[in-house]
Amino acid sequence: MFRMPDAPNDTEILRDFTRLVPVGRSLDGVLWLEVAVVSWPTPHTPQQHWEPLVSLPAHASAEAVAQVQHAALHDPRYFACCERCRRRCPQGWMQGERCQSCAERWLGGVH
Ligand SMILES: [Zn+2]
Repeated sequence: MFRMPDAPNDTEILRDFTRLVPVGRSLDGVLWLEVAVVSWPTPHTPQQHWEPLVSLPAHASAEAVAQVQHAALHDPRYFACCERCRRRCPQGWMQGERCQSCAERWLGGVH
């Protein structure tokens, strides 16, 4: 299987911006992979909510879980890589092609 390149902070992104939510009993339940979506209802106050992305059987193997997590990280609806530092960021934190800290650091140099 072809694998897209990983970003250096993928582990943190997985930990902070995705979660696994078990629903139902362990034998016939499902495991939802949810992704944090950051939005800006006002310019200075980000809001985060969880969006269910994909469900797995509750008894899914660790490998199957890793596979959907990997797919979520590379889903351009949710995450993007900064063109400058190559770190992955939730789309809500991106400023165009750059993450927020790169955008701030380089602000003024472009205009
Ligand atoms: Zn950056």
